Order: sequence, then C-alpha cells, then structure tokens
Amino acid sequence: MYDIKSLKAEEFINNEEILDTLAYAEENKHNRELIEQILNKAAPKKTGRGVECAGLSHREASVLLACDIPELNEKMYSLASEIKEAFYGNRIVMFAPLYLSNYCVNQCVYCPYHMQNKEIPRKKLTQEEVRNEVIALQDMGHKRLAIESGEDPVNNPIDYILECINTIYSIKHKNGAIRRVNVNIAATTVENYRKLHDAGIGTYILFQETYHKESYEKLHPAGPKHNYAYHTEAMDRAMEGGIDDVGLGVLFGLDMYKYEFAGLLMHAEHLEAVHGVGPHTISVPRVKRASDIDPNVFDNSIDDDIFAKIIACIRIAVPYTGMIISTRENEECRDRVLGLGISQISGGSRTSVGGYAGYTSEERPHDTEQFDVSDQRSLDDVVKWLIDTGYIPSFCTACYREGRTGDRFMSLCKVGQIQNCCHPNALMTLQEYLEDYASPETKAVGEALIAREINKVTNPKVFERAVKNLKDIKNGKRDFRF
Ligand code: SAM
Repeated sequence: MYDIKSLKAEEFINNEEILDTLAYAEENKHNRELIEQILNKAAPKKTGRGVECAGLSHREASVLLACDIPELNEKMYSLASEIKEAFYGNRIVMFAPLYLSNYCVNQCVYCPYHMQNKEIPRKKLTQEEVRNEVIALQDMGHKRLAIESGEDPVNNPIDYILECINTIYSIKHKNGAIRRVNVNIAATTVENYRKLHDAGIGTYILFQETYHKESYEKLHPAGPKHNYAYHTEAMDRAMEGGIDDVGLGVLFGLDMYKYEFAGLLMHAEHLEAVHGVGPHTISVPRVKRASDIDPNVFDNSIDDDIFAKIIACIRIAVPYTGMIISTRENEECRDRVLGLGISQISGGSRTSVGGYAGYTSEERPHDTEQFDVSDQRSLDDVVKWLIDTGYIPSFCTACYREGRTGDRFMSLCKVGQIQNCCHPNALMTLQEYLEDYASPETKAVGEALIAREINKVTNPKVFERAVKNLKDIKNGKRDFRF
C-alpha cells in the first residue's frame, strides 16, 4: 500500500500508486481545464515574504508530462523558465566529476565498470594521483567536485573514500581550492554516511537508475546493488547519518520515462514528508555508449524533445530543487535545457580514472572512461559560452560553507531570499575565475557581464560590499562570500 511516510521502499515508491498515477495522467492528458488549473497552482506568487511556488504532486505533474496539446506545452516551458528565473536567476553553478576508482563488484548491465567487463583496465588513484588530479582541476578553475567510484569493499572501502576527501580538501595550489566535495558512491550504511558527513561532504548523490523494481532487479543481476530496497532506502539512511543535502536521479533510457518521472517525484515527496526537506538536487542522466555498453539495447531511450519536457516538468513540480546536467549531453541539448530549469552543469569533464593530470584540454584518455562525453569543450570554453548566452557561470560554494544546507537552505530558497546572496556570490566567484584562470577573450566578456550584473544587487549595503570585494579580488584577495 502507498504510504508516503513509510521507510519501506515498496511503500513510498509504490508500484500501484505509480500505475494509478499514469492511468490518471493518460485520462486527463486532454483535460484543458485541469491542466490550466495545475499550471495556475504551480505559478510563482508574490507574498509578503517574497515569491513563493506551491510545487506539484506527482499526480499533477504526471498530467503535465502526458499532455500533448502544443499550446499548453508551450505554457509549461514558459512557466518552467519563469520559475527558474525566480529562484535561480541566470546563474549556473559549475562543477567537475573526479573518478577515483573503477573497481566494482556489481553487474549493472548499462555500466562499463560492471564486474564482468574484461575490456576495461581497472584503476584506483593513489593519494599522490588524487593530488595531481586536484591540482589539474584547480588549474582549470574548479572549486566544486563530484567524486565518483565503483562499489568494491576491498579496493574502495569507505576509509579510502574518506582519505581521498581529506586529500582533496587539503590541497591549496596557487589561488586554487576545492571548497565543496559532493559524493556519488554506492548505497551504504548509516554509520558510513555519518563518516561522510563528518568528513565535510556537500551533497550525497545516488541515482536510483530505475524506480521499477522488476526492471531494477534485472538490470542489476548480482552484487550488493541488486538489493532494490537497500538502494531505494539509501537517502533515508544518509539523512539519518546527518547528511541533509541529498541528490536524486534516474538513468533515463532504462525503463519507461513516465514511470521514472512519477517515481522520482514520489521519492522527493517522501523525503520532504519524513525528513522535512526534499532533495537538494535532481540529476537527469541518459544512458550513453561506453566500453562493452551499446545504448541501443535499451529500448526506452528518450529523444531531446521528451528530455526537455521532463526537465521543464521537474522544474515546475519541485521549484526549489537544483537540477544538474552533465557532459553526457552535447552543447545543443545543454543550451536548450538551461533555460528550462537546469541550475548546475559540469564543464571540462573527464570520466576516466586519472583523466585530468598530464593531459592538455584537447587530449582525453579513453581506456578507463565511464561513458562517452558529448560536450568535450574546455571549462574556459563552457564559461565563455554561458556568458555569451546570458548566464552567469558561478563557482559559488557559500551556502554549504555558511551552514545553509538542508531545510535552512530550502526555507530561504522557498521565499526567494537565497538570491540576495547568490547573485553577488556568483559574481565574486566568477571574478576570481577571470583573474586566475580565464583566457583573455573570456576575461573580457566576463568583466563586461559583472559590470552589468552588479547593478541588479538592490540592497545598498550588499551592493557596496560586493563592489569593494570585487575590487579586492582584482587586487589579489580571495574567498569572499555573503
Ligand atoms: N557506483 C556508484 C553507484 O553504483 O551508485 C555511483 C558512481 S557511477 C560512477 C555514477 C552513475 O553513472 C551511475 O549511477 C549511473 O547512473 C551512471 N552511468 C553508468 N553507466 C552509464 C552509461 N553507460 N551512460 C550514462 N551514465 C551511466
């Protein structure tokens, strides 16, 4: 039976409830009156405290996703952009993945790290190699990483992950620093989540891959990841272990997208109902070609139009949740979805173990790669492209470092207050990037952007401090934040 507050996977991600939701969405996909009502409910409203959005239930959002009336779909896209603008402005937070180890004891049929893949060389970074990778990432300008690892209790035990996190935070090369380490490792115990929390991680990210239990079990035929309940209940354990920023995601292409969409929103609703705070981020990866993996064998792949619609509907349903897109997607696709709700993107990424140090921005090692990277531009190219298309690339990590995580972040974000500090923080961290890492062309367009955007800071005190900080950054000082 469906029970949003249950701690049992099959009750809070309840198959019957998803099937009923899909049937309801199908019945109402031409119900203009209902769709208009849902769109009105989701629209931003001005209140005494700022701008607020009601969000949508998984049922309501599923009706929007099913709707195929062109003009109502256009309304959805406009609403998604409006919501994005209200809570995230034109800022896009930058990050890079750092692959620590591709040793893995699982058999995920879509992942090249699966245990039976004999084609792929296995590699695990030493602390010296972690150090070199981090220096290479700092030299590109990154301040925020997502560490990635296969699951292998012998080769990559939790102590290895903790040691790597410690190494990453300890490296201060020139003006560089990694200020936030997000972690994407397999589901683990409350005790291990507590250790990750104590190590000062940012977001704990774990993709559900698919919410469909039967498919999940077929796609993960053996290994610890086979256990659907253990995997699906991981975020509850992470929160019990003290981690209050968690990141959800499904791997689109594995099962029916409408099913995944309803499951994803039910998971978000469950976290909010049980822990008082929804997911900090949602990722939307699609299956890609990789060593021993042909994406065409998965017959639920979605095209760019459906992908864009999913992103718009997630933005409308969970207006305060960050949304992440990786370099699995190409420039054209990323361009399209940025305006529909994406708030974080990776840039200059390598998905191989040891892919950064010792390579130029044109060279990329493929031997240990997790998947083909579609957007192969350097970080500087991505930063310039964002600026040219009207976005502010942000290297900000302030919320987490000021303790604005979990419900503290959400309650500020919910009344649009987060923008009072995010906007100047984005500009100050971009200024740091321009001073230390940008090409002359990027620096020129970036300076012009900052000069324009600083005038959007309306609070006179914040404006005055931000202008002074920007000047100090040009004079060599670093790491200011509101
Ligand atoms: N090993 C950890 C786990 O099992 O959750 C997480 C790290 S894994 C490197 C990160 C994610 O990559 C997986 O959760 C999966 O969704 C995604 N992934 C795996 N194979 C992929 C492929 N062929 N194309 C795109 N993404 C893939």
